[in-house]
Amino acid sequence: MVEAFYADESLFAVVRTFMTLDTSVLKPPDGFIEIANRLEQAGFKAWAVGGAVRAACGGGKGKREEDWDIATEARPEEVGNLFSRTVPIGVEHGTIGVLCHDDLYEVTTFRRDVKTDGRHAQVTFADSIEEDLARRDFTINAIAWRPRTGDVRDPFDGVSDFDDRVLRAVGTAARRFKEDYLRVLRGMRFAGRFDLKLEESTANAMREAVGGLPRLSAERVREELMKVLTDQTPSSALCLYTEFDVLPHWYPELVNASSSHEIWDASFDAIDAISCRHPFVRLARWLIQTGEDAVVRRAASLSLLNRLKFSNAQRGVIGNLVEHYLPFVNALDSPKRHRQWLSEVGESWRDVIRLHVADARSAKLERRESDILVIWRLLHQEKLQNHPLKVQDLDINGDDILKLGVPPGPMVGFLLEHLLKKVLEDPRKNTCETLIAETRHLFELGVVPESLSSDA
Ligand code: ATP
Ligand code: MG
Repeated sequence: MVEAFYADESLFAVVRTFMTLDTSVLKPPDGFIEIANRLEQAGFKAWAVGGAVRAACGGGKGKREEDWDIATEARPEEVGNLFSRTVPIGVEHGTIGVLCHDDLYEVTTFRRDVKTDGRHAQVTFADSIEEDLARRDFTINAIAWRPRTGDVRDPFDGVSDFDDRVLRAVGTAARRFKEDYLRVLRGMRFAGRFDLKLEESTANAMREAVGGLPRLSAERVREELMKVLTDQTPSSALCLYTEFDVLPHWYPELVNASSSHEIWDASFDAIDAISCRHPFVRLARWLIQTGEDAVVRRAASLSLLNRLKFSNAQRGVIGNLVEHYLPFVNALDSPKRHRQWLSEVGESWRDVIRLHVADARSAKLERRESDILVIWRLLHQEKLQNHPLKVQDLDINGDDILKLGVPPGPMVGFLLEHLLKKVLEDPRKNTCETLIAETRHLFELGVVPESLSSDA
């Protein structure tokens, strides 16, 4: 927005000159154009809305690949009749997926909310793009462009807000957050992503609405977090999570850590230093704050990940990273120690290194960073040797051990673990004969681990 000051007889008046969208920077993909043209030819207005249009604000600077969503007056069944390759994404909300040039585009009929409860909206179809824009969350997200005519609709001055670096709710902020509490988190993400200041009434309403966050479904909160973690600098939104007291509601395991400001801020710098291609590694870096002890922080992280309904596989990967972050290895450690570490960490070893590189880089410890790169090279060389690192790599298996007369049960696993330890110390021992001899020896000595003997 451009402000001009006029000297009038008695007072200074501020005249707002509103910005308009520079549509020349909008470059829709062919699939979008084809779908919009087909809708228009059939007599239905088709508008681009959301992220793709927002990306043109500020002349498209900092533009990222956005989804080109279409809003139209055509009803879902009419969209279905016009296109042969469709997917029912959310028919009850008026959204049909249309496949074009191997991309999926979301085509949504203009909507109006009829009933909201803080987490779901009951919608009805609307007749105009203006009505549709009025139900959107923030002014910068409520801009529409109609490629057929070049028309722009920006009823809430989202382009000016973007230009002024302001995030403002559409309409009465407090009401909008109460309709759907996810908007609180979305607002923090957009403010963080585009480095926008929260407009005062939006910020106040956000602060008040934070108490409604527990009403959201875990899935939506998780998806929102993952979007933050794939942004360029997640720390900005995560700082707002901290500042606005989001943590006690969904991330209580991190509340204690957030009070040690220096360490907390350092962890944010480290998160930003990890590539956005590794959002789970970024998440692990955040969760590492849950405890100094490896077992404690793993347990705390798993409880948080459980609450957010991460899948078993995701919990496994992230929990492993959090646990094995420390102790780390040194370049001067023996190859034996490197093998032991690789064996403990398993498939996540590269990600643990990424965590340490990010720590060093964000703290501007250049020497440490180059040391870690040396460690990386040494570990990589160790991996290339293909030495056994897990029980499955041994030249002997459970059946071989049973054949030696060992009774089925936990003893078999114990013996295999023991053999792996020996092989990690000296990989030359990984031959069937040596391992059988070692097993016999142990068995004849009657070596039984304490945990097993006490079970018996
Ligand atoms: P991103 O895809 O990066 O999250 P986006 O703005 O494209 O950003 P989407 O979630 O893809 O966000 O939604 C597309 C548009 O739909 C938004 O720009 C906004 O206008 C509207 N929208 C999405 N979620 C909500 C919501 N919870 N409340 C109101 N409007 C919403
Ligand atoms: Mg989007």
